[in-house]
Amino acid sequence: MINRNYSKLEKNYLFTEVARRCDEFVAANPGKRVIKLGVGDVTRPLAPVTADAIINAMEELKHAETFRGYGPEVGYAFSREAVSRYYASRGIAVDADEVTVGDGIGEDIANIVDLFDIHETKMLVQNPVYPLYKATSIISGFEIEYLKCSKENNFTPAPPSDSTADGKGLVVFLCSPNNPTGAAFTRDQLREWVEFANRTNAVILYDNAYERYITDNRCPHSIYEIEGARSCAIEFNSLSKTAGFTCVRMGYNVIPKELERDGMQLLTIWKQRQTTKYNGAPYMTQRGLEVALSEEGLRESDKNIDYYRRNVKLITDILDSKGIYYTGGVNSPYIWFECPNGMKSWEFFDHLLNRFNVVGTPGVGFGTEGEGYFRLTSFGSYEDTAEAAERLKEL
Ligand code: PLP
Repeated sequence: MINRNYSKLEKNYLFTEVARRCDEFVAANPGKRVIKLGVGDVTRPLAPVTADAIINAMEELKHAETFRGYGPEVGYAFSREAVSRYYASRGIAVDADEVTVGDGIGEDIANIVDLFDIHETKMLVQNPVYPLYKATSIISGFEIEYLKCSKENNFTPAPPSDSTADGKGLVVFLCSPNNPTGAAFTRDQLREWVEFANRTNAVILYDNAYERYITDNRCPHSIYEIEGARSCAIEFNSLSKTAGFTCVRMGYNVIPKELERDGMQLLTIWKQRQTTKYNGAPYMTQRGLEVALSEEGLRESDKNIDYYRRNVKLITDILDSKGIYYTGGVNSPYIWFECPNGMKSWEFFDHLLNRFNVVGTPGVGFGTEGEGYFRLTSFGSYEDTAEAAERLKEL
């Protein structure tokens, strides 16, 4: 028998439907130039110093004296130490042994659910949010409860009542700064979540993929800035949106030694899982990570983040001038706004495409609570974003 949970996955036609409507428009209006601000993928090139590190590592493998075979499943010491130093630069003590390095965090987040018992665990998932958390929970067969994110809570929900677990263990997926809403938890809000988790024995899975976009001092760059987080939270960090590694692939996670449930250390069972089901990330990309997290690497890749920030401002200036409610932008490459005049997400998509020839992403594609909202991204070129902003003055 196959795992029938796959048939329970929602058919997510979001990006195919966006492409279909866009192609149809282009075919019917050959003279019009459509600007796409919908994609969540980066466009700026790798920092040269990081790219060179990857190339040099590849070069080593061409020679018998420097050739390497399999590496450690959880990552080479040099890359785990680079992560540890990165945390230290933020004043956070993370031991290199608590770090696992992998090919981006999409798969780590998908796989970490292996640590929990499907019958005795309930997943809490934000709505709207990056679809992976829900999908991986469905595939494994977990019960899911949703955390409503809305204008009322500024898309940063507070913990539910302690009785939510209902006799089960709780695992909470938190994404901050969030994709798609761009909303980020403040220290005070996150403290509430950490206290909730420690009180109820919940485990927080903290997706920190957009940490480097944070500019608001009230928002922590790591959940470990919050006292008590080491006994309840696992943190995931990706180099995809910060150092432009969406194609290269590289990410890491931290499981503190103090995090124990049922008398078992989660770090130990995660390492067991990884050494059983995974053979480690490439040497080359780990050398890339080592340099990407160095002072020079960060200085260079932050220039790209500044580039995207300049795009963000072009869009948020328009929204500000029109008094449109939005989240994101300040701490995120995403701008999430309320569709004007009470329009639904797809209705607004069509309006934006037909009237202004601009493409974005309908919010409802990220969860039911996204209905009536829309996501634009700052990952386009400056020229395109400036032209889109000019057109949107007529919004
Ligand atoms: N988490 C969030 C919130 C994301 O937006 C993305 C990618 O868009 C990922 C995780 C996946 O990251 P990676 O490329 O490291 O697999």
